[in-house]
Amino acid sequence: MPFTPFHLLAITPVKALAQRKFSWTMFALVNVLIDLEPIGFLLITLSPEHHFFHTIIGATLIALLAANYGRGLCEGAIKIWNDEIKSPSVISETKISKLAAWSGAMTGAWSHLLLDSFMHDDIKPLSPFSDSNPLLGTLPIATLHTVCVASGFLGLLGMAFLKAKPSSAIKANQRRVKK
Ligand SMILES: [Zn+2]
Repeated sequence: MPFTPFHLLAITPVKALAQRKFSWTMFALVNVLIDLEPIGFLLITLSPEHHFFHTIIGATLIALLAANYGRGLCEGAIKIWNDEIKSPSVISETKISKLAAWSGAMTGAWSHLLLDSFMHDDIKPLSPFSDSNPLLGTLPIATLHTVCVASGFLGLLGMAFLKAKPSSAIKANQRRVKK
Protein backbone atom coordinates (compact mmCIF):
# COMPACT_ATOMS: atom_id res chain seq x y z
CA MET A 1 0.00 0.00 0.00
CA PRO A 2 1.32 3.46 -0.75
CA PHE A 3 -0.32 4.82 2.36
CA THR A 4 -0.51 3.13 5.75
CA PRO A 5 -4.13 4.33 6.32
CA PHE A 6 -5.37 1.77 3.78
CA HIS A 7 -3.96 -0.97 6.01
CA LEU A 8 -5.58 0.59 9.06
CA LEU A 9 -8.98 0.77 7.38
CA ALA A 10 -8.92 -2.78 6.03
CA ILE A 11 -8.77 -4.41 9.45
CA THR A 12 -11.59 -2.53 11.19
CA PRO A 13 -14.11 -5.43 10.76
CA VAL A 14 -11.72 -7.63 12.76
CA LYS A 15 -11.68 -5.05 15.54
CA ALA A 16 -15.46 -4.81 15.47
CA LEU A 17 -15.78 -8.59 15.84
CA ALA A 18 -12.87 -9.37 18.17
CA GLN A 19 -13.29 -6.24 20.32
CA ARG A 20 -11.08 -6.52 23.44
CA LYS A 21 -9.21 -9.52 22.05
CA PHE A 22 -7.66 -7.37 19.33
CA SER A 23 -5.70 -4.15 19.77
CA TRP A 24 -6.22 -1.83 16.80
CA THR A 25 -3.64 0.53 18.31
CA MET A 26 -1.01 -2.23 18.37
CA PHE A 27 -2.03 -3.15 14.83
CA ALA A 28 -1.50 0.48 13.79
CA LEU A 29 1.87 0.70 15.57
CA VAL A 30 3.18 -2.36 13.69
CA ASN A 31 1.95 -1.02 10.35
CA VAL A 32 3.59 2.35 10.94
CA LEU A 33 6.87 0.74 12.05
CA ILE A 34 6.97 -1.48 8.94
CA ASP A 35 6.32 1.49 6.65
CA LEU A 36 9.14 3.48 8.25
CA GLU A 37 11.30 1.42 5.89
CA PRO A 38 9.99 2.83 2.55
CA ILE A 39 9.49 6.25 4.16
CA GLY A 40 13.14 6.25 5.27
CA PHE A 41 14.28 5.23 1.79
CA LEU A 42 12.06 7.90 0.25
CA LEU A 43 13.65 10.59 2.43
CA ILE A 44 17.20 9.42 1.74
CA THR A 45 17.11 8.15 -1.86
CA LEU A 46 13.79 9.63 -3.11
CA SER A 47 12.69 6.05 -3.85
CA PRO A 48 10.29 4.28 -1.41
CA GLU A 49 12.02 0.91 -1.48
CA HIS A 50 10.88 -2.22 0.36
CA HIS A 51 13.50 -4.52 1.81
CA PHE A 52 13.98 -6.64 4.97
CA PHE A 53 11.02 -5.30 6.96
CA HIS A 54 8.71 -6.17 4.05
CA THR A 55 9.59 -9.87 4.24
CA ILE A 56 7.82 -12.47 6.41
CA ILE A 57 10.86 -12.63 8.68
CA GLY A 58 11.35 -8.85 8.97
CA ALA A 59 7.67 -8.03 9.46
CA THR A 60 7.30 -10.81 12.06
CA LEU A 61 10.34 -9.49 13.89
CA ILE A 62 8.71 -6.04 14.12
CA ALA A 63 5.51 -7.68 15.42
CA LEU A 64 7.45 -9.59 18.09
CA LEU A 65 9.23 -6.42 19.26
CA ALA A 66 6.03 -4.36 19.27
CA ALA A 67 3.99 -7.01 21.13
CA ASN A 68 6.72 -7.37 23.76
CA TYR A 69 7.71 -3.74 24.25
CA GLY A 70 5.01 -1.56 22.64
CA ARG A 71 2.05 -2.09 24.95
CA GLY A 72 2.90 0.85 27.22
CA LEU A 73 3.31 3.14 24.22
CA CYS A 74 -0.06 2.07 22.79
CA GLU A 75 -1.84 2.40 26.14
CA GLY A 76 -0.32 5.88 26.54
CA ALA A 77 -1.55 6.85 23.06
CA ILE A 78 -5.08 5.65 23.90
CA LYS A 79 -5.02 7.59 27.17
CA ILE A 80 -3.97 10.79 25.36
CA TRP A 81 -6.71 10.17 22.77
CA ASN A 82 -9.32 9.70 25.50
CA ASP A 83 -8.15 12.78 27.41
CA GLU A 84 -8.01 14.98 24.31
CA ILE A 85 -11.20 13.90 22.58
CA LYS A 86 -13.45 13.93 25.68
CA SER A 87 -16.33 12.53 23.65
CA PRO A 88 -18.00 9.48 25.21
CA SER A 89 -18.91 8.14 21.77
CA VAL A 90 -15.26 7.61 20.76
CA ILE A 91 -13.71 6.73 24.11
CA SER A 92 -11.57 3.55 23.98
CA GLU A 93 -10.49 1.15 26.68
CA THR A 94 -6.99 2.10 27.82
CA LYS A 95 -5.82 -1.32 28.97
CA ILE A 96 -4.45 -3.65 26.28
CA SER A 97 -4.39 -7.33 27.25
CA LYS A 98 -1.52 -9.58 26.26
CA LEU A 99 -3.81 -11.44 23.86
CA ALA A 100 -4.98 -8.19 22.26
CA ALA A 101 -1.40 -6.98 21.90
CA TRP A 102 -0.23 -10.18 20.23
CA SER A 103 -3.24 -10.57 17.95
CA GLY A 104 -2.97 -6.92 16.88
CA ALA A 105 0.77 -7.12 16.29
CA MET A 106 0.82 -10.39 14.34
CA THR A 107 -2.24 -9.46 12.27
CA GLY A 108 -0.64 -6.09 11.63
CA ALA A 109 2.57 -7.58 10.31
CA TRP A 110 1.12 -10.32 8.15
CA SER A 111 -1.83 -8.37 6.72
CA HIS A 112 0.56 -5.52 5.89
CA LEU A 113 2.81 -7.84 3.97
CA LEU A 114 -0.14 -9.52 2.27
CA LEU A 115 -1.65 -6.25 1.01
CA ASP A 116 1.70 -4.78 -0.01
CA SER A 117 2.68 -7.95 -1.87
CA PHE A 118 -0.19 -7.48 -4.33
CA MET A 119 1.13 -4.16 -5.59
CA HIS A 120 4.83 -3.44 -4.94
CA ASP A 121 7.19 -5.03 -7.47
CA ASP A 122 10.24 -4.72 -5.20
CA ILE A 123 8.75 -6.80 -2.37
CA LYS A 124 10.21 -10.27 -1.85
CA PRO A 125 8.11 -11.65 1.02
CA LEU A 126 9.85 -15.03 1.05
CA SER A 127 13.39 -13.61 1.09
CA PRO A 128 16.06 -14.92 1.77
CA PHE A 129 14.63 -18.28 0.67
CA SER A 130 13.11 -17.02 -2.58
CA ASP A 131 13.00 -13.79 -4.57
CA SER A 132 9.56 -14.59 -5.98
CA ASN A 133 6.35 -12.78 -5.08
CA PRO A 134 3.44 -14.98 -6.22
CA LEU A 135 0.83 -12.34 -5.29
CA LEU A 136 2.23 -9.49 -7.36
CA GLY A 137 -0.24 -8.28 -10.00
CA THR A 138 -2.91 -10.86 -9.16
CA LEU A 139 -5.32 -8.12 -8.01
CA PRO A 140 -5.78 -4.73 -9.72
CA ILE A 141 -4.59 -1.90 -7.46
CA ALA A 142 -7.91 -0.04 -7.78
CA THR A 143 -9.74 -3.19 -6.62
CA LEU A 144 -7.36 -3.53 -3.70
CA HIS A 145 -8.00 0.06 -2.60
CA THR A 146 -11.75 -0.34 -3.04
CA VAL A 147 -11.75 -3.50 -0.92
CA CYS A 148 -9.76 -1.73 1.83
CA VAL A 149 -12.10 1.29 1.88
CA ALA A 150 -15.25 -0.87 1.79
CA SER A 151 -13.85 -3.06 4.55
CA GLY A 152 -13.07 0.05 6.60
CA PHE A 153 -16.57 1.40 6.09
CA LEU A 154 -18.14 -1.88 7.22
CA GLY A 155 -15.83 -2.10 10.23
CA LEU A 156 -16.52 1.48 11.32
CA LEU A 157 -20.25 0.81 11.05
CA GLY A 158 -19.79 -2.29 13.22
CA MET A 159 -17.79 -0.36 15.78
CA ALA A 160 -20.35 2.45 15.85
CA PHE A 161 -23.02 -0.16 16.54
CA LEU A 162 -20.96 -1.63 19.38
CA LYS A 163 -20.35 1.83 20.85
CA ALA A 164 -24.10 2.14 21.14
CA LYS A 165 -23.92 -0.92 23.41
CA PRO A 166 -20.63 -0.26 25.27
CA SER A 167 -18.98 -2.81 27.55
CA SER A 168 -18.68 -2.14 31.27
CA ALA A 169 -15.02 -1.12 30.91
CA ILE A 170 -15.90 1.43 28.24
CA LYS A 171 -18.75 2.73 30.40
CA ALA A 172 -16.28 3.24 33.27
CA ASN A 173 -13.97 5.20 30.96
CA GLN A 174 -16.87 7.28 29.70
CA ARG A 175 -17.87 8.14 33.27
CA ARG A 176 -14.29 9.13 34.06
CA VAL A 177 -14.07 11.49 31.04
CA LYS A 178 -17.45 13.08 31.80
CA LYS A 179 -16.25 14.16 35.27
ZN1 LIG B 1 4.40 -1.28 3.51
